[in-house]
Amino acid sequence: ETELEEVLDAYRHIGTLKSKIPYGNGHINNTFLLTYEIPDGQEKRIILQEMNREVFKQPKELMENIIGVTSYLRGKIIENGGDPERETLNVVPADDGENYYVDSRGEYWRAYLFIEDATCYEQVETKEDFYQSALAFGNFQHLLAGYPAETLHETIPQFHDTRKRFNDFLRAVDEDKLGRVVHVRDEIDFVMKREGDADVFGDMLKRKELPLRVTHNDTKLNNIMIDNATRKGICVIDLDTVMPGLAMNDFGDSIRFGANTAAEDETDLSKVSSNLELFEVYVEGFLKGCQGSLTQTEIRLLPMGAKVMTYECGIRFLTDYLEGDHYFRIHRENHNLDRARTQFKLIEDMEAKWGEMEAIVRKAANK
Ligand code: ATP
Ligand code: MG
Ligand code: MG
Repeated sequence: ETELEEVLDAYRHIGTLKSKIPYGNGHINNTFLLTYEIPDGQEKRIILQEMNREVFKQPKELMENIIGVTSYLRGKIIENGGDPERETLNVVPADDGENYYVDSRGEYWRAYLFIEDATCYEQVETKEDFYQSALAFGNFQHLLAGYPAETLHETIPQFHDTRKRFNDFLRAVDEDKLGRVVHVRDEIDFVMKREGDADVFGDMLKRKELPLRVTHNDTKLNNIMIDNATRKGICVIDLDTVMPGLAMNDFGDSIRFGANTAAEDETDLSKVSSNLELFEVYVEGFLKGCQGSLTQTEIRLLPMGAKVMTYECGIRFLTDYLEGDHYFRIHRENHNLDRARTQFKLIEDMEAKWGEMEAIVRKAANK
């Protein structure tokens, strides 16, 4: 509470504070909604966030990424005749002109304009929601296609370096700290058999066959604001994990969790599959949003993106299980193993449907 007072004091230029309430369902940052009265007598709403320093070790670099990307988006949105206050996040500087405020405990805070008349939905309820999210994240790619992605900081180093994840996994198997390897021989075999998948993208990137893109890396529905009047996705928010990466990674991760017919930790694997109908919806929305910004190679590799992201995620769950569950929080015994198994089941299912997935992408690309 006292910290908050100190922070509010650093943003006095916005206006007269009328109210402050904890806000939203974010799991990473500490979010507040502030309402100010501004000189013309109107209300102005602001989102104030205490950044999670446990997860983000480089808050300054992170804010540099956000400023870089949102300034660029602002320019593009204005060029397109859009509304830059609703179609991108806008950082509101503190009284001293800085884009963030460091409190006396050393915690980092930042403020954004509140996006009015729009809602964040927690769960995909209809195909249309999933389509809107695909469209919004595709459009994000499109608007940022000319951004020099290599100038962004890698705030979580090697986040989607699948080869590194694979090597970490090998080390965990080798060390077998908790003696769990004996329980997961089949799962280890499953990962080993697909080792080649860990290098597909990395090798192509080295050969310069893939462009480095601005990626979002947390492409959930609730990181999009949906316009209340039109029900269209208008703004991609939660830019903490914006980093240089590959278009297929954002796409693939969305499919990994969004097209799964069951929960990520479902223990009845017969319920787990990758829904082709949802896959198609997402492909169509994503490609439409991208408006021709992707290369033919990137488009062709979209199914591979889904597989590699699922593979990488499964590897990480299994590695954490082997190392004693210190990265992903568990709520029951073998939770990370259950999670790994759903990912591997999804991969098997994708492999069985590979031809269909490729056909869906070809069809959507030719529309
Ligand atoms: P996550 O768990 O998705 O990582 P987070 O803790 O990083 O979330 P955000 O997604 O940045 O937090 O914000 C939390 C919630 O606050 C959002 O889901 C949204 O409802 C709301 N929100 C954030 N920024 C804005 C904004 N500029 N305008 C309106 N609402 C916002
Ligand atoms: Mg969020
Ligand atoms: Mg977040």
